[in-house]
Amino acid sequence: MDLNSLYSKLYAHFGSRGWWPGDTPYEHFIGCVLAQNTRWDRVVPVIQRMKQKNILVPEKYLQLRQDDLAEILKGSGTYQRKAEYLQIAGRYMLSRGWNGTPGSVTAETQILRNELLKLKGIGPETCDCILLYVLERPVFVVDAYTVRILSRHGFCTKKAKYEEIQLIFHSRLSSDVEMFKEYHALIVECAKQFCRPKPECTDCPLKERNNNS
Ligand code: SF4
Repeated sequence: MDLNSLYSKLYAHFGSRGWWPGDTPYEHFIGCVLAQNTRWDRVVPVIQRMKQKNILVPEKYLQLRQDDLAEILKGSGTYQRKAEYLQIAGRYMLSRGWNGTPGSVTAETQILRNELLKLKGIGPETCDCILLYVLERPVFVVDAYTVRILSRHGFCTKKAKYEEIQLIFHSRLSSDVEMFKEYHALIVECAKQFCRPKPECTDCPLKERNNNS
């Protein structure tokens, strides 16, 4: 099974996931930052709270003291640190001209990636979530679920590094932003439903071939 057929099987089974969750790019951006090291269902109420307070836009939450923002982010894991990270990342996005639309940021993807990775609190996964889901750049997002499924199907080892796995996608698939968005979401869904730490292959859409689990 190659990466295209893996995608086709996942899509045929789960359908479009419509990621990233949220109504606006501002929500997508905040979600990318807050989703680090916590469950998504803990992030949702925090974004709702920010929405109610009308502070989804960086210009708004940058006016808050970090401690005050942290209070609002309570529930999303390490909320004090995340308040700092969100303000740093928001300030950066504004410095790059972001106005909530992907086209407002014109710098090359690799430059943006290098800059984002230098920001406090932004690791490769968060960086690439922002690039793909907020700025609509063709950058594949790798997470623990991706490693699990790819390693179980012989594409890489469990210890493969982030960029190594990303290159597998970049070198074997066309640079299609919408497909990359969907593919990452489908992997997450498959891992949650079937490819758990103890895999449940029987009903999994990827069960038939090259299953090394
Ligand atoms: S559950 Fe089994 S068939 Fe499905 S992705 Fe994981 S290892 Fe493959």
